[in-house]
Amino acid sequence: MSTGHPTYRGRLAPSPTGFLHLGHARTFWTAWRRARAAGGRLVLRNDDLDRDRVRPEFIRGFLEDLRWLGLDWDEGPDCGGPLRPYSQSERMSHYATVLAQLRAGGWIYPCTCSRRDILSAVAAPHAGDEEPVYPGSCRGRKLEELPAGTRFSWRFRVPDGGSVGFTDARLGPQVFVAGRDFGDFIVWRHDGLPAYQLACVSDDIAMQITEVVRGADLLASTARQLLLYRALGAEPPGFFHGPLVTDESGVRLAKRHESLSLRALRAQGRTPEELCAGWECASV
Ligand code: GLU
Ligand code: ZN
Repeated sequence: MSTGHPTYRGRLAPSPTGFLHLGHARTFWTAWRRARAAGGRLVLRNDDLDRDRVRPEFIRGFLEDLRWLGLDWDEGPDCGGPLRPYSQSERMSHYATVLAQLRAGGWIYPCTCSRRDILSAVAAPHAGDEEPVYPGSCRGRKLEELPAGTRFSWRFRVPDGGSVGFTDARLGPQVFVAGRDFGDFIVWRHDGLPAYQLACVSDDIAMQITEVVRGADLLASTARQLLLYRALGAEPPGFFHGPLVTDESGVRLAKRHESLSLRALRAQGRTPEELCAGWECASV
């Protein structure tokens, strides 16, 4: 029943590995504003794949903090919706299907390198976490040729020298070169968990997201993800990369900036109106 004019569908995708800080708040507020301005729908997705770091109080925490901020959503783990489930930990069969599709298309290969970055692939590589370009050591490997019991991850083969371009709704034209700006990347970890890039793209497709709003530190991940959309034969959404919030010395906010967590700010008597007013001015 395609009308050719799909309704705007946006998403908020918090990772419950800590409490939300001002940087998350700004991104989520922007995503909410854009969805509401477009008369669209907003999905809340619980990105809870990182089982070593996820804690239930952080899930309760983001629900409470987002509501305190004044945001609302139409589908999510707390309110359900037609494309449920909305928690990534409950969507494993879905990711397995996408992995099988990538395998069938010959887009991925088993990588036996056991580096720390393979383990960290479950989380989105925010600024400063970008891994060095993978040298392609395992490119020629075939699953059938690995000795039984070998531990391996699945890696996506990027087209070396190929450019990946897109027009960001805030920043304008962007171009990344595969093999230079990023290399072959992990889509499935050897411990059986999908990597952030695969889980995110699978869900953004399945949840029919038409625009992804995220921080500008994920621009290179967007480029990787566009290669996944291509490989899966799926139409990519639009992208809006919002400004990053930094502390007074210009460092991007991270979990260690506890004083800038929404709950700390709330405890200090700051109001959501005050926080959002500043972003409002900056976004027009
Ligand atoms: N849960 C991811 C994060 O917070 C989502 C990133 C994205 O927007 O794709 O880093
Ligand atoms: Zn390897």
